[in-house]
Amino acid sequence: SNVQPLNDRSAEELAAFLTEQRAAYEALKGKDLTLDLTRGKPAPAQLDLSDALLDLPTGAKDEAGVDTRNYGGLEGIREIREMFAELLWVEPEQVVAGGNSSLVMMREVLVDLWLKGAVDGVRPWSAEEKVTFICPVPGYDRHFTLLDWFGIDTVTVAMNEDGPDMDAVETLVADDPSIKGIWIVPTYANPSGSIVTQEVAARLTAMPTAAPDFKIFWDNAYAFHHLTEEEAKSADILTLAAASGNPHRPIMFASTSKITYAGAGVAFLAGSVETVKWYVSHLGKGAIGPDKLNQLRHAQFFGSPQGVRDHMVKHREIIAPKFAEVERVLDQRLGGLDVATWTRPTGGYFVSLDVLDGTASRVVQLAKEAGIALTPAGASFPGGKDPRDRNIRLAPTFPELPAVSEAMDAVATCVLLAAAESLASR
Ligand code: PMP
Repeated sequence: SNVQPLNDRSAEELAAFLTEQRAAYEALKGKDLTLDLTRGKPAPAQLDLSDALLDLPTGAKDEAGVDTRNYGGLEGIREIREMFAELLWVEPEQVVAGGNSSLVMMREVLVDLWLKGAVDGVRPWSAEEKVTFICPVPGYDRHFTLLDWFGIDTVTVAMNEDGPDMDAVETLVADDPSIKGIWIVPTYANPSGSIVTQEVAARLTAMPTAAPDFKIFWDNAYAFHHLTEEEAKSADILTLAAASGNPHRPIMFASTSKITYAGAGVAFLAGSVETVKWYVSHLGKGAIGPDKLNQLRHAQFFGSPQGVRDHMVKHREIIAPKFAEVERVLDQRLGGLDVATWTRPTGGYFVSLDVLDGTASRVVQLAKEAGIALTPAGASFPGGKDPRDRNIRLAPTFPELPAVSEAMDAVATCVLLAAAESLASR
């Protein structure tokens, strides 16, 4: 091919390339686009898949005969707990079905740890001199802002294709008792698409930790969100933890936010039976019961665990072409130039794009000035600071396919101009 890495080009060739890219960018601006690749939201067509929910439930009694219109049942109705227990490879008594947001549950768990301490802890976390969390990066921005709100310190490790850099994690937790937890998005991670292997999960559950009440926040938001027919199975974290003698270490979270409705789904927490009791006892100080009617509606809508899996295939049919388009444009426009690398996720909601060091903010700014909203550079790092200023999170699910094409073509133009500027000024 006639594609030559930019690094191998002479100063003159680079100057000519920069001129070309400036012209391409001016042409892009002339198009007056308004496009948005910022947040991982389901498209309206995906929400439409669940509209049978609007006519459910039929009747208000659950399988146990409980009237779901009334107070009570803090841990959620039996059939939805059983359904998601099977899907998440845990026992029904290890699952709580809650309200519409797993992120709220994560916040509640941190509040409980802060004020009351862990099942296996000796004092509330607020009584510690310092609390630190390990944050695999790039990661989910809302995890980091939540820690920041608590005043919890962060230390980063690399998120590799098979999960966090375990040598780094094991070294950190071994000596420092202030390190109380780690965030993990185990399946199709936000934004890298990484899948934590059973081996990495086994190391996480078995590793000796200086803190006796070390917690794995196992945020399985994309457990069933496959983009290919090969469906990754999440590592069996609770079984591994029990087997290695640390049964209370993982707390699992999931929700139907990207299965049914992002604003009106059902969220789940899972852990050891003691963890479930601990969580529910604190929950009960401020709640009399969840929206069981919505839980019943969801149980009837899916019918069975297989119903959830079948439903996810319909999502895949809508969003897989958008991810394929992201890959096609990036391959076609940036391939072979050595100016960027990007993930090829087999599930989840994101593509993680790494551009030349020091150019990510410039790319986002150029895109903004051309009418394309991208997630701020650095958003996937604690404090919003990517030390290499190279990572950009792309979220292609919400826009229609032609808009994804147009937006990605624009992103490529901005990446090329920022790279040309950076190399020409060396
Ligand atoms: N965790 C991760 C990793 C996510 O990407 C998201 C959604 N962007 C959430 C949690 C939010 O989940 P919920 O809607 O259940 O609060």
